[in-house]
Amino acid sequence: MKKTFILSLVTLTFLSATQPQNSAEIMKDALAQMEAIANQVIDVNKSIVKKIPVTPLDINSSASDFTLGKYGTFKFEKMNDNVYVMHGPVVGPNKENRGFMNNPAIVESKNGLIIVDPGGNYNVGKKILAEVEKISKKPIIAVFNTHKHGDHWFANKAITEKYPNVNIYAHPNMIKVSKEGEAEIWYGILSRGTGNLEGTKEFAYPTKALNHLDEIEIDGQIFSVGHPDVAHTNTDLIIFHKNSKTLFLGDNLMKGRLGSFDESSSVFGNIELLEKIKSDTNLTLYVPGHGFSGTKNETIDPFLSYLNVLAIEGQKAYDDDLESYEVKEEVKKKLSWMTEWDAFEKNMPSHLNKIMIEMGERELNAEDDEE
Ligand SMILES: [Zn+2]
Repeated sequence: MKKTFILSLVTLTFLSATQPQNSAEIMKDALAQMEAIANQVIDVNKSIVKKIPVTPLDINSSASDFTLGKYGTFKFEKMNDNVYVMHGPVVGPNKENRGFMNNPAIVESKNGLIIVDPGGNYNVGKKILAEVEKISKKPIIAVFNTHKHGDHWFANKAITEKYPNVNIYAHPNMIKVSKEGEAEIWYGILSRGTGNLEGTKEFAYPTKALNHLDEIEIDGQIFSVGHPDVAHTNTDLIIFHKNSKTLFLGDNLMKGRLGSFDESSSVFGNIELLEKIKSDTNLTLYVPGHGFSGTKNETIDPFLSYLNVLAIEGQKAYDDDLESYEVKEEVKKKLSWMTEWDAFEKNMPSHLNKIMIEMGERELNAEDDEE
């Protein structure tokens, strides 16, 4: 059994994602379905979206602790048998968090440690490595990077300094675009935002490519990966750790914070991916790129519900020939449960605009198909 159920579901998702809508009728049915799902999910959300978790400031913290001003102290938490996650501050990169705001994770094997997304720069990486050593003194034997954004992988540099031959796995698109300029762009963004990028160059790029449905065993731990053609970006790897039934979703899933979609993203692709994972999996742990890990309902429902509201309200505006800025206040009202999410005010309107652009592209594709 090479291919797991989780990966066949990712395949299905992307097959359907590439088929353009053929008629207004199909679109209408799909929207009605989405609306029904979104309404259910919003009800669930009301009860589960609590205050955004921030590690409380530990006034007894010692000099060796990883402490970031008002954000408090960060440690790896044991999530199940052999998986640990350090949940970073649920905010964008800034001077006070020093560029640490993602969720580095450890999978412990018999003889070593496997790291997922070690963090956003060399200096943060050194702090995180010190925390890794508090969990176990075993060597780091592999690293996974979920996608191209530097806040997830620039800390590879701290790992390669200590383990120069470690295998770092990522999707080939991630490796390609990072080397072709994306890493430099992210270096600029994070350097200006945090002032803490010293030592991060030369970049420690991933060294091994993994493609959609690849499965690898590392010291008895089995990982299978899925690559959604286009979702958060077109460089993502979704990593399934079979032994512990843990799914690392990278930034295809966020909680408590909204990131950004860019020209390499698809909001519809992100929705289709999460719908499929929601309907076809029941794992012990889902780890988002930002925000707290948890069960499927705790993690996937809030973000998916958000994206579905954008799809429904965006479609209504699109059909009425309105621009996204004309309806954003209305949409905000429908999302009153998430106004505490970091960057909601800034990013929601641009996400709405993005999905409406995708609607236009879909319509054009459908017209081309009919000709
Ligand atoms: Zn990202």
